[in-house]
Amino acid sequence: MLRIGHGYDVHRFCEGRKLILCGVEIESREGLLGHSDADVAVHALMDAMLGAAALGDIGRHFPDSDPKYKGASSIMLLKKVNALLKEEGLALSNADITVIAERPVLKNYIAAMRESLAAELDTDISRISVKATTEEGLGIAGKGIAAHVVVLLEKP
Ligand code: MG
Repeated sequence: MLRIGHGYDVHRFCEGRKLILCGVEIESREGLLGHSDADVAVHALMDAMLGAAALGDIGRHFPDSDPKYKGASSIMLLKKVNALLKEEGLALSNADITVIAERPVLKNYIAAMRESLAAELDTDISRISVKATTEEGLGIAGKGIAAHVVVLLEKP
């Protein structure tokens, strides 16, 4: 059985925070605002995985009203989501991640981002795609960073 899921998230730029995308620290003069480490790509990925499994969303599993998740590593939460899928007998077939950012330029980080996610999800790098695009200055991306993710899960 195959299950498809989509995830979307946006975080606003903010001074004085690290920029973490797909678990990788990116050189940037601004980070993203958020209750956790604000890894917008991992948030969208988790929502896509939960969506494919019809298990709700990250707000339900990791409420930002819970002080436990303040400053939380999104990668640690991703590992929890992956474990949840495993309990349901579901495995990630592939994930296609699009990060939408006017700045910084991400192309030199793509390989590291794929490696990071493949390692944390304990899967082959060929199953993880990370792409970056801009909105040509027309969208919300100048004020923050957005991510769209599509995943396919399989139940062997
Ligand atoms: Mg988020």
